[in-house]
Amino acid sequence: MGSVNNAGPMRVLVTGGSGLVGKAIEHVVQEEGGKHEEEEWIFLSSKDADLVCKSGRTVSTHEGEPALLVSDSLQRSSQRDNLKINDNVLQTAHEMGVTKVVSCLSSCIFPDRTTYPIDETMIHNGPPHDSNFGYSHAKRMIDVQNRAYFQQYGHRYTAVIPTNVFGPHDNFNIENGHVLSALVNKTYKAKKDGTPVNVWGSGSPRRQFIYSLDLGRLIVWVLREYNEVDPIILSVGEEEEVSIKEAVEMIAQSLDFKGKMLFDTTMSDGQMKKTASNAKLRRYLPNFTFTPLQEAIKMTCDWFLANYDIART
Ligand code: NAP
Ligand code: GDP
Repeated sequence: MGSVNNAGPMRVLVTGGSGLVGKAIEHVVQEEGGKHEEEEWIFLSSKDADLVCKSGRTVSTHEGEPALLVSDSLQRSSQRDNLKINDNVLQTAHEMGVTKVVSCLSSCIFPDRTTYPIDETMIHNGPPHDSNFGYSHAKRMIDVQNRAYFQQYGHRYTAVIPTNVFGPHDNFNIENGHVLSALVNKTYKAKKDGTPVNVWGSGSPRRQFIYSLDLGRLIVWVLREYNEVDPIILSVGEEEEVSIKEAVEMIAQSLDFKGKMLFDTTMSDGQMKKTASNAKLRRYLPNFTFTPLQEAIKMTCDWFLANYDIART
């Protein structure tokens, strides 16, 4: 993080501020008393600036430049858009004298053929899974750029690698939502209509799910305390990994769904696992407590039911 804005407040700009991760960071800072007195947090959505376009970079409503930046790029977008966003964000940060940038990578960018658990040193050790080839290569370039900005300018721009995230404000769309939130919506509908829940694939793939609010707390810690350029995996431990079947059973329990689950094996399983090590995180934060998965799923279901009208469905 470093010395910033000696005279004024420490400005933190969060791009993707209206999304799953951005809203969680906002909650941590504004609702949990996580804001430090000297900080000013600004949350942006695509309506404030289109990060794909360089001209969209100026946030005219705020005086001065941000000191720190939590950056975001788009999971479901094209490789080209993600490359443009990465470059626009990092180069603009450099030009504006931003002292720290935290970007989000993802555990799906790791090599497809690998040994487990995967750790931070293995990002570039082989091609990613075919299902997200373009996105993964674009994300990997953030790490390359961070190293280059450090070598050339000494900037401490870094990246976090979250595993599968879920929580309030996620995309609950059944066609293009992330697995947990799509299944929350599918289960809600199945209960309402008296139909089975259609789960894609065999239910056997295994995932480490992280609750968005836990991730928000960890990203705020990274922003303030983590000084490496090398990325850090933000995840629950390997022992917390669950199968998709186990996850959907937890959703069923939270929504009190007693109907059938169909496992549609005509749909792809994707990666069977991408088990990531959180040993580096644990060396820094041995006592961080993750919200238990069943509890976090229940809170997400409760949020979905209470906010059905505004949820992304
Ligand atoms: P999300 O819920 O889909 O939110 C996307 C955010 O990006 C929204 O705030 C959106 O603004 C904004 N945005 C979209 N297009 C934009 C553009 N052209 N210019 C500026 N802003 C734009 O995403 P998320 O799940 O929070 O993901 C955040 C980051 O975490 C991403 O980098 C993602 O790759 C990474 N990640 C996510 C997961 C996961 O499971 N969700 C796992 C690992 C890593 P609008 O609301 O205005 O559209
Ligand atoms: P995603 O990015 O949230 O889709 O997560 P991953 O790509 O890591 O893996 C999702 C896993 O959940 C795959 O094995 C899918 O086959 C399985 N799955 C089961 N039902 C659904 C669903 O309704 N939506 C999604 N996205 N995945 C599902």
